[in-house]
Amino acid sequence: MMEAQGAIMPGAVAIAGFYHETNTFSALPTTFRDFEDYQFAVGSDLLDRYEGTGTELGGMILAARERDVDLAPLLFAAAVPSGTITRGCLDRILDMLMRALHDADPVAGLLLVLHGAAVAEGVEDADGHLLARFREALGADCPIVVTTDYHANLSSWMVASADAIVGYDSFPHVDMADRGAEAVSILQRLRNGGPLAAAFRKLPLATVPQRQPTAEEPVVRILARLHELENTPEIVCGTLAMGFPYADTGDLGASVLVYGESDDAVNAAADEIAGLLWSHRRDFLPELTPMEDLAGAIGPEAEVPLILADPADNIGGGSAGDGTVVLRELLRAGASGAVVVINDPAAASDAAEVGVGGRFSGMVGGKVDRAHGEPVHIEGSVVYSGEARFRHSGSYMTGFVTSMGLTAVVAAEGVQVVITSLRTMPFDIEQLRAVGIEPAEQRIIVVKSATAWRAAYGPLAASTLTLDTPGICPSNLARLPYRNRPRPLYPLETDDSFPDS
Ligand SMILES: [Zn+2]
Repeated sequence: MMEAQGAIMPGAVAIAGFYHETNTFSALPTTFRDFEDYQFAVGSDLLDRYEGTGTELGGMILAARERDVDLAPLLFAAAVPSGTITRGCLDRILDMLMRALHDADPVAGLLLVLHGAAVAEGVEDADGHLLARFREALGADCPIVVTTDYHANLSSWMVASADAIVGYDSFPHVDMADRGAEAVSILQRLRNGGPLAAAFRKLPLATVPQRQPTAEEPVVRILARLHELENTPEIVCGTLAMGFPYADTGDLGASVLVYGESDDAVNAAADEIAGLLWSHRRDFLPELTPMEDLAGAIGPEAEVPLILADPADNIGGGSAGDGTVVLRELLRAGASGAVVVINDPAAASDAAEVGVGGRFSGMVGGKVDRAHGEPVHIEGSVVYSGEARFRHSGSYMTGFVTSMGLTAVVAAEGVQVVITSLRTMPFDIEQLRAVGIEPAEQRIIVVKSATAWRAAYGPLAASTLTLDTPGICPSNLARLPYRNRPRPLYPLETDDSFPDS
């Protein structure tokens, strides 16, 4: 490719990240320990751990090597989506980042991995807060390129503090590494050619995951048009961020962000995509199966494997993963060949103590809050126990190793209950294999996820039902006690609240 002649700043490019999708309705605060338990890599460990993985960092590292860009690794910290981050945790990670940046200085740029929907105590826009600190430390001329999740609640503060923000183009998220590589390419372009024009449009639109998959209508059509625009010479990069409806802040909502060569071009593109998105707002309303229809749906005629999605206890959305409403109903209905994963460290430890071959009898789940059902009594033989971890073999975070902590499997009547000690998102098929369960041989697999489970189980699912379950990630947003969100916001306010519709 052609590179413009220009002054390239000497020095390495800093690479860092802070990644959290915050569900402000969760009763569980997110602490420093939660980051240590999930993904925490300091200095050169960041390069060692993420090189070759299908993550933003993996994509950045590979692209930097191909372009002979030296990287100065600072710190990467990620926690499984959960409740509001404690102020102490945010400040501690921010201090570590700033100290590492100081030690690496001078740097010629920054590659920063954010989620875009992080909320801390007293800091509604934690991503914007962190990004502004980096900008302050690096000065106006040092290029900062950020990657964000498709579920980012992008803010004007974030946009103002970065030279470019590159959002995922996929849900389920399988393009993290590609976006990381794109961030490196944009950073090089900025180093060679100076700043880009930006256009940011925030929409009064909240959507839930069921209608957000990027391979389906309406998003597939909107992204196709955005990609067409990206392929015109004046546009460098466009992002459609659908937002995260469970982070109750003033920045909640979908947005469109376009970078390019001229103000006219980026404004026209951003207006067109924002208009297209708004015109499809009704297509984002979800379709759900009532819990009372479940027993009838799992009988002998069911097309199996049948995937039952429990969206309100969506671990990837910040829920506890210990919801019991579906487990209780499966036991009551006499289900056979079913698998349910429940996060419950105490029960996992009790079952492990009983040991493989022994008989477990006890209460599982429903312990973190009462939003997802009461604890359920199960009884059966322990068929697996031990520290469980798996390496992702699918398209989501390929190669990454996830730990479930001490885990036990109890065969309770027709339901195998996998009891974990660490909340584990059902995004890879190896999760069940790690505890001796072959997914393709099951009749029913319950996933605590709205949509992202498809990266793992989509190919083997013969049928799927999304259940109307209660919890902190409900598909019916009217159930949530919002306080800070923008108003009006579709679909919580009706069409006549929006003068231009
Ligand atoms: Zn996401």
